[in-house]
Amino acid sequence: MSYITETGKKLITVIPGDGVGPECINSALRILEAVGAPLEWEIREAGASVFKKGLESGVPPETIESIRKTRVVLKGPLETPVGYGEKSANVTLRKLFETYANVRPVREMPNVPTPYSGRGIDLVVVRENVEDLYAGIEHMQTPGVAQTLKLISRKGCEKIVRFAFELARAEGRKKVHCATKSNIMKFSEGMLKRVFEEIAPEYPDIEANHIIVDNCAHQLVKRPEQFEVIVTTNMNGDILSDLTSALIGGLGFAPSANIGNEVAIFEAVHGSAPKYAGKNVINPTAVILSAVMMLRYLAEFEAAATIENALLYTLEEGKVRTGDVVGYDRCNTTTEYTDAIIANLGKKPSTTFVREYRPIRLPQLPPDPVYVRPNIRRVIGVDVFVETELMPEPLGQLLETLAAESPFYLKMISNRGTKVYPPTGAITDVVDHYRCRFLLRDSQGEATDTQILDLLQRIGSRLRWMHLEKLQEFNGAIGFTKAQGED
Ligand code: NAP
Repeated sequence: MSYITETGKKLITVIPGDGVGPECINSALRILEAVGAPLEWEIREAGASVFKKGLESGVPPETIESIRKTRVVLKGPLETPVGYGEKSANVTLRKLFETYANVRPVREMPNVPTPYSGRGIDLVVVRENVEDLYAGIEHMQTPGVAQTLKLISRKGCEKIVRFAFELARAEGRKKVHCATKSNIMKFSEGMLKRVFEEIAPEYPDIEANHIIVDNCAHQLVKRPEQFEVIVTTNMNGDILSDLTSALIGGLGFAPSANIGNEVAIFEAVHGSAPKYAGKNVINPTAVILSAVMMLRYLAEFEAAATIENALLYTLEEGKVRTGDVVGYDRCNTTTEYTDAIIANLGKKPSTTFVREYRPIRLPQLPPDPVYVRPNIRRVIGVDVFVETELMPEPLGQLLETLAAESPFYLKMISNRGTKVYPPTGAITDVVDHYRCRFLLRDSQGEATDTQILDLLQRIGSRLRWMHLEKLQEFNGAIGFTKAQGED
């Protein structure tokens, strides 16, 4: 799991990052040194400075090489400066090393007043970190209509769901909620729900509940103490975990881990907070707690507990306080806060406790890219997406004429998901982006590529098409949804 140096220490890659990153990382490294954790580190670059040197990815080969070797990273936030590179260096790192689980714990902090103080919030958001809308597959389909693909795989769902249950066990937690929008996105978000419900019985010691994500947000604000672990898709998790950080005092206190089977990256949830950069006032707690998570990942449980105890003690004592808690006009410096934690190593808080952790068992799934093999599959039609300024009725009539001699008939046309042809009687605003659904006339037949290409050619003779989606059945089950209003 980690690289051991000649002196028997665990080697990690440290990326100080941008903005307040170097100050926070410096604080965490000083504490790691002071606790005597058996670590060595290699400092490597990524982010703004790298983009500015002209490297499009923001992650240089030396950094990738170091991570490949050490497999464990402690990093500060990275910026994508405006005008440089297209992709975030953070997302690049997470995806390059397939860190599929983003773990974001929050707990009530002593002496950090919030509207929830005293309610004992202590929960973890487990966010799928690679798939979903964050795959970043986007197209302008017409000059005025953009598309982002939301890709969710069964394999990805199984990995994150198993991870969440294993995390609950490793941390002695008793409950896992799965938060999805499966009521609307039955296939993509629904996949996570189905996989969760299939796998939950393998963990009879953990209570499993599904919750619709909007209600989850509502419940998190109303009664956050009911949650222990929330597993969810990438975008849901991004939003919910910022919400949960706010419940316990803000981003200054929210650590995270990006865990994969090969590599793990530990970082604060927050970004580079540029307005505080170089001022020695930033709250380094989120990065320090990320380092604590890293120590546990490296099975250095004692060092992790010593640092967490010292940090909680320092907050409880309340002598040294950061600007986000008491205001920047009367706060201590980042250096003073770090010094106080170092001075308190070995002390324990009296009003709160540090959880017992066991090593987590990472789910091992077969690497085969074909994860689901149906016995029977059939293409029964095709959705062709066209760009046109025509209104639905003339468009429908034109398409019916164009497909007249083909094996397909026009089943319906929708505009942004709502059926507009044949007319429904509803008043639907339309844009120049139509999905035209063609089904085989022979309901028992199988559409061939030649037939589909012929249909496309017919449509292309009069209309501009930009996207095609085969309508498939797997093991007899329909693999596509109906439009709003479609029979
Ligand atoms: P941000 O850097 O997280 O800062 C937003 C606000 O959160 C700050 O202005 C501050 O609030 C508070 N905050 C953040 N970290 C704090 C800390 N350690 N202690 C106390 N308060 C803290 O978000 P942003 O301004 O949206 O993003 C800035 C840059 O960071 C962007 O380039 C973004 O892309 C990047 N970013 C990187 C990562 C990453 O590397 N993982 C994550 C997020 C964003 P107040 O103003 O209320 O004091």
